[in-house]
Amino acid sequence: MTVRAGREFLAIPGPTTMPDEVLQAMHRPALDIYSSQMVELTESLLADLSKLFATKGKTYIYIANGHGAWEATLSNVLSRGDKLLVLESGRFAIGWGHAASLMGVEVEVLKGDWRRAIRPAEVEARLKEDKEHRIKAIVAVQVDTASGAYNDIEAIGKAIKSAGHPALFMVDTVASLGCMPFEMDKWGVDVAMSGSQKGLMTPPGLGFVAANARALDVHKQANLRTPYWDWTEREGTEHYRKYAGTAPIHLLFALRKAIDMLHAEGLENAFLRHSLLAEAVRRAVAAWSEGQVLGFNIAEANERSDTVTTVTMNGFDPAALQRYCKEKCGVVLGTGIGDLSGQAFRIAHMGHVNAPMILGTLGVIEVALNALKIPHGKGGTEAAIEYLGESVGA
Ligand SMILES: *Cc1c(COP(=O)(O)O)cnc(C)c1O
Repeated sequence: MTVRAGREFLAIPGPTTMPDEVLQAMHRPALDIYSSQMVELTESLLADLSKLFATKGKTYIYIANGHGAWEATLSNVLSRGDKLLVLESGRFAIGWGHAASLMGVEVEVLKGDWRRAIRPAEVEARLKEDKEHRIKAIVAVQVDTASGAYNDIEAIGKAIKSAGHPALFMVDTVASLGCMPFEMDKWGVDVAMSGSQKGLMTPPGLGFVAANARALDVHKQANLRTPYWDWTEREGTEHYRKYAGTAPIHLLFALRKAIDMLHAEGLENAFLRHSLLAEAVRRAVAAWSEGQVLGFNIAEANERSDTVTTVTMNGFDPAALQRYCKEKCGVVLGTGIGDLSGQAFRIAHMGHVNAPMILGTLGVIEVALNALKIPHGKGGTEAAIEYLGESVGA
């Protein structure tokens, strides 16, 4: 027996739920790629993406996922043999560094921990040791989607500055842009990247990169540049060069609609919505944790992301819980990945999410905990409901 008829709810941290309006925006014929409409669409998106990154720098749109956008950042500013410092806080910065090492870059990982965010003081100390300035760039994620860590990019930017180190600071915002504040220029970030399919509510397939004047200057000397990713190649006067070929027109229609929806809601409200729904999830997990089986992966409360919560399971198989939620109730939870494979599940709360989606997801998890007789503190969903009732004013 199941209670899963109806729309399956995807509570995985990407791809996320796409609004019907975004899906419908793609259901139309292609544009003439040489038309003024096409040029205007591109210009409006580049301007809005720059605003989302909060930069006066240049923004580029690639037909690529996040991995592609990573490669775009690396190839445009680095040369073979350059040294890259990777700030670990889970899986994703490590993946970015792995791509760099395959490209011929020397990679050093500043050891972090799967259970915590990056420590800015450790970054500063490492940079001060690099007296010869061998490190050419530093990469970090704002949110690590595997561990659930939220990194204080502003504080890391300040640490780099107070070390007096000239390396470029490059930040991955794939799991945070449009959901949590990000201030590229104000926080001292030189290059930022993101993707379409998480907070931005758009199908997978678009990668975004923003670069400031300092990065564009370093770019001139970089020898890892290749034609598709190259920023200079994308600056030509012909419109098609913005995409190094045919524009991904339908994905652009989708992105246009998604950003319009974010503007209609107001970016500040979107950030607040994410923080309220994230806290509702955390209230539920905190209550369930009293059973000694479930727990937060990220130890410190202020280092937990507002877009995804990674929940560890001690002595029980998260796969069984996930299977019950999906097959019986139609809710798909994220799997624990990397070091947390087989030991955790993830609840995504990013992008097109509202109170019924989140409360429904929490309710289903609680149904599963009961059905599978997994010990847990009672009243998790109720704690989430109470929190929202107190916090979302009349
Ligand atoms: C999902 C994700 C990526 C990778 O994006 P893909 O589109 O899967 O290549 C990179 N960084 C972070 C933080 C992510 O969450």
